[in-house]
Amino acid sequence: MATIDLHAHSVCSDGELTPEALVLRAAACGLQVLALTDHDSIAGCAPAMRVAATCDLHLLAGVELSTQWLGVNVHIIALGLDLQAPPLLQLLERQAGVRERRAVAIGERLAALGFAGVYEAALARSASVQSIGRLHFAQVLQERGVVRSVQQAFDRYLGTGRKAAVPLDWIGMEEGVAILNQVAKVTVLAHPLRYGLSRTRLTQLLTAFAQAGGRALEVATPVQLPGEWPWLLAQATKHALFCSQGSDFHGPSTPWAELGGFAELPDTGSSVWRLLSDDRAA
Ligand code: AMP
Ligand code: MN
Ligand code: MN
Ligand code: MN
Repeated sequence: MATIDLHAHSVCSDGELTPEALVLRAAACGLQVLALTDHDSIAGCAPAMRVAATCDLHLLAGVELSTQWLGVNVHIIALGLDLQAPPLLQLLERQAGVRERRAVAIGERLAALGFAGVYEAALARSASVQSIGRLHFAQVLQERGVVRSVQQAFDRYLGTGRKAAVPLDWIGMEEGVAILNQVAKVTVLAHPLRYGLSRTRLTQLLTAFAQAGGRALEVATPVQLPGEWPWLLAQATKHALFCSQGSDFHGPSTPWAELGGFAELPDTGSSVWRLLSDDRAA
């Protein structure tokens, strides 16, 4: 079990717990450090920080930005945010608009496929129209028996190129990294092995990310196959990236991605925590 978890979601995006409940769960799990990294939203950071101040837990304000790189939906995590920084607020306002328009378009596509009212039901599951995500749609499709699982909802309808997918309109990866670097201590490429890229293309993505100013790579995560960790560590070294770790916790209903539910990275000089630890004394 890890004591530092730098990737987790709340109801302010597609997680199941309120920011407050997330912090209490993290403290109960024995975490010392938690980063709240909702998709394209920082709405949960202030409430999470207020609760963290009452427990023995250091809370980092973070965000997981949706971006695109050569047609691939790439997630960039920023940690140690200045929550008042105007470039951050402008960026998230833009992302909220993209998210809202995309949700309406997904709803229209599903309606055209014969599934009416899914947008309204997905909206009812999310904290606001700006926090609506594909997971909410997937959950509605599963609830209605259209699909057997969330995974099937992505495979058939919501994944890139599937029946109800809409073309990507997210900010470019490089532009996103540049803005986040102005407002955060660290930018991290999230879950590099989940983009369905060949190792060659993934290496190209890492090169582009590092050239754009990206600082770290998510290496330690709950679901990992043998051999993946050494390969990622070697890539981090090759591209001069620090190493990050996180569960990508979304809620109690996905127990295989529990808070801190992964083997901690060795505390070498390349741990991203080194870039953030001055924050701890603050
Ligand atoms: P969005 O941010 O709206 O594009 O939705 C992406 C989110 O959907 C991810 O962060 C996951 O929480 C969730 N998800 C679950 N299964 C999948 C999948 N097979 N492919 C992509 N996203 C998935
Ligand atoms: Mn998610
Ligand atoms: Mn992600
Ligand atoms: Mn995530």
